[in-house]
Amino acid sequence: MDQSTHPPIQTVGVIGAGTMGRGIAHVLLGHGYSVLLTDTSPGALAAATRSITAGLARDVEKGRLTAEAKEKAFESLQPSSDLAGMVSADFIIEAAPENVDLKADIFRRLEPLARPEVIFASNTSSISITRLASATSRAGRFCGLHFFNPVPVMKLVEVVAGMETLPETLAKASSLASSLGKTPIQVNDFPGFVSNRVLMPMINEAVYAVMEGVADVQSVDAVMKLGMNHPMGPLELADLIGLDVCLDILKALYEGFHDPKYRASPLLEKMVHAGRLGRKSGRGFYNYCPTTQTE
Ligand code: NAD
Repeated sequence: MDQSTHPPIQTVGVIGAGTMGRGIAHVLLGHGYSVLLTDTSPGALAAATRSITAGLARDVEKGRLTAEAKEKAFESLQPSSDLAGMVSADFIIEAAPENVDLKADIFRRLEPLARPEVIFASNTSSISITRLASATSRAGRFCGLHFFNPVPVMKLVEVVAGMETLPETLAKASSLASSLGKTPIQVNDFPGFVSNRVLMPMINEAVYAVMEGVADVQSVDAVMKLGMNHPMGPLELADLIGLDVCLDILKALYEGFHDPKYRASPLLEKMVHAGRLGRKSGRGFYNYCPTTQTE
């Protein structure tokens, strides 16, 4: 079927209802799409539903959405723990954990469920789109759609072309991102795409600078904020992203390029082993629990 004759996207499937999946679902609902949200964890689905409800209510308070549109948006959310519901999706975005085998297995199971013309997109931060696409028989209709955290706030969406991705797939994915008020930037499939290939070495170098005693955490962040006009310092940002996520992405860059320049700082590894993951665990380079003592 010619892509231009496809009906418009009305229902979007979102797989994974964690930080990113719930943010993506929230933004889709706020822009008039119906959303099928699936997760293997009923707890994650319940938490996502609460967070989306609160997010839509905030949109009304801030004048971004009418009360009527909020009600309609909420009715357009269908949470489910069953992937089978994806049969009625017009476009599918996967936001499951950053694990290649897990993601490939999801796409393998999706393949017979979704209509052949439906585009599959992954929100992966670092896994090869070409590799994930090979788990399906629709590599031409497979791309990366890399949203940023927090999804309702961040404008960028990296639209990633795998080796076999068709131009019309990129056009359709970009137009979906634009319809959400985002700015799509098309990039090719190389480890870390553009965003993490540029960002993660900077964060890693900041960690090395602290490890080697060049300066303390606050000073490294202050240099980058005041000298480079960055809104957040690299270590503050690493805490926001999650130190475990940063380490996983650095490992993907290191393994993808086989280049020692992407070798993760031993201090970053040690902090992850200690459970100091940043904001989400209450402690990273900064302390987010006022009652916890810092040395
Ligand atoms: P998360 O751990 O918060 O959420 C993942 C969700 O997937 C969980 O709720 C989990 O229960 C669910 N899940 C696990 N296995 C599943 C399965 N088989 N089927 C359906 N759901 C399943 O992770 P996240 O931070 O939302 O990240 C999701 C993806 O987005 C990852 O690929 C990550 O690299 C990428 N990403 C994350 C960020 C970020 O800042 N957190 C930014 C951009 C991209």
